[in-house]
Amino acid sequence: MTASNKTLRTCKQGHQYYKSTDCPTCPVCEQARKPQEGFLAILSAPARRALEHNGITTLEELAKHTEKEIMKFHGMGPASLPKLRNALQEAGLSFKS
Ligand SMILES: [Zn+2]
Repeated sequence: MTASNKTLRTCKQGHQYYKSTDCPTCPVCEQARKPQEGFLAILSAPARRALEHNGITTLEELAKHTEKEIMKFHGMGPASLPKLRNALQEAGLSFKS
């Protein structure tokens, strides 16, 4: 793959970026998406995927589950639980008991 293979793309939001693959992901939109999913960003990739796979992309959604339910998700490790607990606490939320 060389630089000459890169093509200029424009995303739906009008951002222009160069990509050499068929991946349609715009880096600007990708970046803008992150703050909303702040608590997901602090997790390891497998843990994040586990939550997303179960439809949990917000702290409000996370608070509807118990710690036990979360730990059953494939990819979720014990190291992720304190991070999630802290994130919930900072938002004034907690796991379902
Ligand atoms: Zn974009």
